[in-house]
Amino acid sequence: MAPRRNAATAAAVLAGCAGCSAWVAPAARGFTGQRVAPAAATSSSPSGMKMKYKVAVVGGGPSGSCAAEILADCDDVDVTLFERKMDNAKPCGGAIPLCMIDEFDLPTSIIDRKVRKMKMISPTNREVDIGQTLGDDEYIGMVRREVMDGFMRDRAIEKGAHAINGLVNDIDVPADKDSGKYKIHFARYEKGSRKGVQDSEEFDLIIGSDGANSRVAKAMDAGAYNYAIAFQERIKISEKKMEFYEEMAEMYVGDDVSPDFYGWVFPKYDHVGVGTGTVVNRPKIKDYQDAIRKRAGEKIEGGKIIKIEAHPIPENYRPRRVVGRMALVGDAAGYVTKCSGEGIYFAAKSGRMAAEAVVQCIKQTGKLPTEAQLKKTYLKDYDKLYKPTYLVLDILQKVFYSNNAAREAFVELCESEYVQKVTFDSYLYKKVQGNNPVEDLKLLFGTFGSLMRGQALAPPDVTFSNPVESLKRL
Ligand SMILES: Cc1cc2nc3c(=O)[nH]c(=O)nc-3n(C[C@H](O)[C@H](O)[C@H](O)COP(=O)(O)OP(=O)(O)OC[C@H]3O[C@@H](n4cnc5c(N)ncnc54)[C@H](O)[C@@H]3O)c2cc1C
Repeated sequence: MAPRRNAATAAAVLAGCAGCSAWVAPAARGFTGQRVAPAAATSSSPSGMKMKYKVAVVGGGPSGSCAAEILADCDDVDVTLFERKMDNAKPCGGAIPLCMIDEFDLPTSIIDRKVRKMKMISPTNREVDIGQTLGDDEYIGMVRREVMDGFMRDRAIEKGAHAINGLVNDIDVPADKDSGKYKIHFARYEKGSRKGVQDSEEFDLIIGSDGANSRVAKAMDAGAYNYAIAFQERIKISEKKMEFYEEMAEMYVGDDVSPDFYGWVFPKYDHVGVGTGTVVNRPKIKDYQDAIRKRAGEKIEGGKIIKIEAHPIPENYRPRRVVGRMALVGDAAGYVTKCSGEGIYFAAKSGRMAAEAVVQCIKQTGKLPTEAQLKKTYLKDYDKLYKPTYLVLDILQKVFYSNNAAREAFVELCESEYVQKVTFDSYLYKKVQGNNPVEDLKLLFGTFGSLMRGQALAPPDVTFSNPVESLKRL
């Protein structure tokens, strides 16, 4: 069925990615909205050598690698990719949607597990199996980030990005942000040495893909965003126990595992990632982690914790995502959806879109984009595609993760085949498939019924007092 956008129904809300549609490259469109004849790109030096624009991409996660490979393909750009740790294992559940594999030309060899079944587990431990609507060739990809990020980064380097193993610690911003040079100060790490050597280099434009604790965001005074703290343990369980998680992921909801998010057990090649997150009660994250381990119970019993990891997850956009010739992408910009905590796809996509906007401008005008042009292209296009998704998932999180009765209702609703179909289609393909008005109406009534049953069945949330962090949430 052809994708179509229609009113946000309860089903679309549940879908997780309502409003998404495929990114269309702004081909042959001028920054003024008109077609512009391609101008000579870069100038020549007195020696007759063609000068290239120097672009820095700070951070070699999915957003940075996707930006760097687009820029590396442009003859008029000399791109440098800074990564503080070339074998970085980003703390992450590692779930990616199916569409990402084709769209970003990822080999299936980087996928540890193909999840075709999912269990949603309610506060009263009611289990609902979802995934029955998936076709034989449909799955959620489970990756280890060190594997996926390594592949994407190497590909950008092979395409011509100049890689620096360096920690960016400061950036001098020119007085004229639209034409001056940006000076990046960094500690360069040579192979085998743990001691960084201070260095600096000048650039014409910077893409900030350095994650939630972004240095680039700081340099451009992008403003703060609220964040969740997410915690994960990688647990090696016996081969026998691993059989259960062969194609299975679990999501647990309840105020024991998180007052405002969900706990998960995601399968990796020889272990499971067990984790949870919260914004409103971050100091208690370890208690929530204990609870998710307890809930998973004998399924992970006897397992050995092989890695403990924690990291912030942005909750919303930064107040400023483009300042002068500095543009933020991925987590640095705040592109993680509420409710699902999904950020890998949006990181890759935003990195690609920002870089494409830069290349397109050079091709059309012969110059790098200004702040106004970046806003008009990269930001405008990104928001058009994904802002509705962020809004819908924000509402969904507020409605269904706020108390145990609502969480119980949420799990019950997931029993509906219609909800499953819309949810998976939206997540896997980042498109809203044609909704069915009759089913939408049934779902609306079903939601009321489920909420009432949830009220009767689920234990009330334990109250906690954390006024500072709680207030930051809603
Ligand atoms: C516990 C947890 C579980 C998650 N689970 C999922 C999931 O299952 N699915 C999903 O889609 N999303 C998930 N996310 C979100 C996802 O991890 C992020 O949205 C995604 O990694 C963002 O990619 P990025 O490239 O923008 O940033 P990052 O992946 O954070 O990459 C930033 C890179 O920049 C480098 N860097 C940082 N600072 C500097 C510096 N100063 N100089 C040089 N290099 C620097 C870092 O080493 C890193 O390699 C999860 C997040 C957490 C914390």
